[in-house]
Amino acid sequence: MIKAVDVHKRFGANHVLKGISLEVAAGEVLCVIGPSGSGKSTFLRCINQLETIDEGAVWIDGELLGYVERGGRLHQLSDAQIARQRRPIGMVFQRFNLFPHMTALENVVEGPIRVLRESRDSARARGLELLERVGLKHKGDAYPSTLSGGQQQRVAIARALAMRPRLMLFDEPTSALDPELVGEVLAVMRDLAGSGMTMIVVTHELGFAKEVANQVVFMDDGRVVETGTPDQVLANPAHERTKTFLSAVL
Ligand code: ATP
Ligand code: MG
Repeated sequence: MIKAVDVHKRFGANHVLKGISLEVAAGEVLCVIGPSGSGKSTFLRCINQLETIDEGAVWIDGELLGYVERGGRLHQLSDAQIARQRRPIGMVFQRFNLFPHMTALENVVEGPIRVLRESRDSARARGLELLERVGLKHKGDAYPSTLSGGQQQRVAIARALAMRPRLMLFDEPTSALDPELVGEVLAVMRDLAGSGMTMIVVTHELGFAKEVANQVVFMDDGRVVETGTPDQVLANPAHERTKTFLSAVL
């Protein structure tokens, strides 16, 4: 489903990704863990083409991101072509960035109506279904400022799902939440994983990773230090750096 080979990213002199390679099969959940500044968010942003990569390549369902091959040469895609490639990728950030002037339901239906050109009626019907799926059927008319952080984050998930993504990226979706609200968001993510969605989740929630991930990657200083099943990486890490990180997080 998704394959990254030797991905490098620099911000000026700062070499942030130093050759990231990994693969996620369709329906799999990959959890990415690692210290602050190790490049986790940058890697997700590269997959979603919010950043361009300097070396290496990423394919989604066999389609190379950002380029097209013509006459044996790689040509950069236009902005419109990149927008099309980004469409089936949903992303949920640490900060619930809902549109503040729209209700929960309006937030969810905005993309389907404007981008997917769905009719208002069918977008609303599906929007309500999605709000129900994240446990917020009764909050369709509520404005973000009247919702708790956990509720806002669940609306953000529904909004991403409304675009019918094939891949969902989560960047520390629960780390800005009060502790008592973390569980409700993880429960929605667990359901989503159970439904067969392919997911890459950057998280410090090791319990979630242990339970839900098929694969765990430990990143440090722009590299994949260790990758394997949750049991391998979280319970029996092979590398000293992984052990040090895990003992600091736990
Ligand atoms: P955290 O756990 O704190 O979220 P992270 O693993 O997500 O950390 P990144 O946010 O990917 O780390 O940052 C990796 C490095 O890239 C940092 O040194 C950061 O300062 C740098 N960086 C990230 N985005 C930019 C940018 N837009 N311009 C310049 N430098 C950046
Ligand atoms: Mg980050």
